[in-house]
Amino acid sequence: MSVDFGDGPLRAPVGEPTAQPTPTRRPWRCLGIDVGGTKIAAGLLDEGGRFEELEILPTRRGDGGANLTTLRDLIRAAPAGLSAIGVSVRTLLDPAGALRDPRGVLGWRGVNLARELSVDGAEVTVSRDVECGAVAEVQYGAGRGMSDALYVTIGTGISHCLVKCGVPLSGAHGAASSGQAPPARCTRRHCEAQSVEQICSGPALASEHAGGEAQDASDVITAAEAGEPRAVEIISHAGWHLGAYLATLMLTLDPEIVVIGGGLGTHASTYRERAIGVARRLGFAGLLGEVPIVPASLGDGSAWIGAAHIAATRLVDSAESRATRRNRVLRPGPSEESR
Ligand SMILES: [Zn+2]
Repeated sequence: MSVDFGDGPLRAPVGEPTAQPTPTRRPWRCLGIDVGGTKIAAGLLDEGGRFEELEILPTRRGDGGANLTTLRDLIRAAPAGLSAIGVSVRTLLDPAGALRDPRGVLGWRGVNLARELSVDGAEVTVSRDVECGAVAEVQYGAGRGMSDALYVTIGTGISHCLVKCGVPLSGAHGAASSGQAPPARCTRRHCEAQSVEQICSGPALASEHAGGEAQDASDVITAAEAGEPRAVEIISHAGWHLGAYLATLMLTLDPEIVVIGGGLGTHASTYRERAIGVARRLGFAGLLGEVPIVPASLGDGSAWIGAAHIAATRLVDSAESRATRRNRVLRPGPSEESR
């Protein structure tokens, strides 16, 4: 694979101390890769907003070497002339860029993925999945055109991200997106979960319904929609907590729109509508009552689309800041006579 940064020569000609225009860029085209818990998906995104999924491969649980090989193979198989590569991962990164991967799902604990993948000369940007999904929905999906959009993902985990003027805000420690927030106090007896995620995620719903550890919430959702009393109670209770979480986020962050993504958030409309109803009742008055709360529209591809977009943004910002720096250095100062 060849990497083409397409931003023209940035070195200023010697002896010409005048401000230079920003070099004309060629339109970018980036590869996005989403590394999820069960699958690794890759696709292309170009500057015109066109995206195309290329391939989906299985994630090897806990096998970091095999997962790294999969990513390298996807990069090598990508079309030539890419501007940059963005990778979405479902874990926090430490300040030096190493993945935390606390449960060892990817086998990449402590691995600096950008450095590992940059060996072939590619510009690689690694971002957290919720930030990628949020950016994709704001740029190309349900939140398009909004300058303050809150993205909330509900699936295997719960997390959120505010995108302000196109930039995902992750906070000083990356913890601003975490669904580990303590739950609001409800009226149910014996509700002692420590986090919103422990009540509202897919595995939490599935485990409560199954009476033991389970991952897939589709059974409890189907049963609730068919009116099974226990399933209805589980969805009603978790939906209340999800609504309280949404209300808290909206009153804190005051977004223009809320986009709800993730497998459960997008497809389990009964659960999502229960949460939206509670959020509107608990938290909203006046202006906030009009804030649209809508399902995500990009589906499973949002993470790799967002990863590619973030990589492109970094590339463009970097080229523009290099040009600005060069102009600042070359701009002539006041002459000796004028001082
Ligand atoms: Zn509760």
